[in-house]
Amino acid sequence: MAGLALLIWLVLIIAAVILTAVIGTRWLARLLQEIDFWPEPSPGPAGPPTCPGCSYSLYYATDRRCPECGRHFDVKEVDMRLAEWDGNILRPREPQNMDQQARS
Ligand SMILES: [Zn+2]
Repeated sequence: MAGLALLIWLVLIIAAVILTAVIGTRWLARLLQEIDFWPEPSPGPAGPPTCPGCSYSLYYATDRRCPECGRHFDVKEVDMRLAEWDGNILRPREPQNMDQQARS
């Protein structure tokens, strides 16, 4: 009889531990999302366009191919904030906004 009671207690304790772990994990994950504990990585300051494969500068690259390692690149996967693709060559972006501000 004592053995059965001990077994029931053991099952209840194990069930309580599992339930607490599952509920606690979900609650903790929701809390961490709410307080933005793991925020989205920010793009950071603009830098020159670099090869996703070898980080070589892609300024004046033609054929959308890295001049260093030969990797084909897509302008969508390159930081284009300081560069523009004119259809043939990746060149530094003209500072048009600064020009317009100086004129007005
Ligand atoms: Zn490369």
